[in-house]
Amino acid sequence: MADRPLPKTNEADTRAFWEATRDSRLTYQKCSDCGTVVFYPRRHCTGCLGRNLVWEESAGCGSVYTYSVVRQSYHPFFRDKVPYAVAWIDLDEGPRLLSNVVGVDDPVSDIRIGMRVAVTWEEHDDLCIPLFEPDED
Ligand SMILES: [Zn+2]
Repeated sequence: MADRPLPKTNEADTRAFWEATRDSRLTYQKCSDCGTVVFYPRRHCTGCLGRNLVWEESAGCGSVYTYSVVRQSYHPFFRDKVPYAVAWIDLDEGPRLLSNVVGVDDPVSDIRIGMRVAVTWEEHDDLCIPLFEPDED
């Protein structure tokens, strides 16, 4: 079975994010000057262009902002996973990140916009990939 394509972990802006995933910590940046939440990781604040960003840790809970179901993939890793959901997840702390919703029987009928989700981790040698699964009472 093919391996998931993984991000580079040696890039200046994203290294700290991926290092934190090794410990199952989902992090994001926040501007010390204006309070803007910044995600994906970068060097400057998207609100004020300042460089005083600090790392914060998310509890890993959020909701589905929107999603799409992939029914056909030619990549060897994803080919066996169809149909699967690609979703924008709004974390409760503010960041919006692209991920997958997993742990559902049928992504076509079992996912909806606004649905509560929680992070779950797919482990690899040098990092973990944050995925999301339903978290509804
Ligand atoms: Zn700022």
